[in-house]
Amino acid sequence: MKIKSKKNINISLAEKIFQENEENVYLCYQCRKCTSGCPSHAYMDHSPSELIRFVQQGMIEEIKKSNTIWICLSCQTCSTRCPQGIDIAHIIDSLKIMLQDKKIKARSKYPKVYKDIRSFNDLWMKMLKYLGRMYEPGLVGIYNFLCGNPLKDMGLAFKMVKKGKLNFIPSIKKPLLMMKIFMKAKRLK
Ligand code: SF4
Ligand code: SF4
Repeated sequence: MKIKSKKNINISLAEKIFQENEENVYLCYQCRKCTSGCPSHAYMDHSPSELIRFVQQGMIEEIKKSNTIWICLSCQTCSTRCPQGIDIAHIIDSLKIMLQDKKIKARSKYPKVYKDIRSFNDLWMKMLKYLGRMYEPGLVGIYNFLCGNPLKDMGLAFKMVKKGKLNFIPSIKKPLLMMKIFMKAKRLK
């Protein structure tokens, strides 16, 4: 399918999204069902439906300035609710990758939020890469340390250990296989 150019609308961003994900943002008719279900909406500069509008209009500068894609939790609620079948969460992931590849940072109003989100994402991926599965105590402990609050959640962690909900010893699952997957993904990039 080819997206047709409309007068005065920059469709290059929408085309790029379509080439990468086969998601056609021009199917969106702004019903806002995605936005009404989004748990992070209250913290976003622009709602998920506004973000889709920006993509329709090729307004990449607005997307760069907004905290929206960085606040997104990738919970998929928006994608599930969209009556047009648009996978908004997937589009947001693509936008994050595009901006990170270009090393574009979130706007300066939110440097700490951006830094913390990046730290969390990086740690998450490293845990998966080297342990083959998630190690929650390590993730939370190191993340809190990097955010300058090492004792945060300690009380909760001990309660969870006592109830057998958390194991301090990491369970390692096929790390070599996971590392191979990561290397392959890097080569495909
Ligand atoms: S739910 Fe779908 S059609 Fe409705 S505003 Fe969001 S993206 Fe557009
Ligand atoms: S995936 Fe992101 S944008 Fe969509 S509902 Fe969840 S938090 Fe909101």
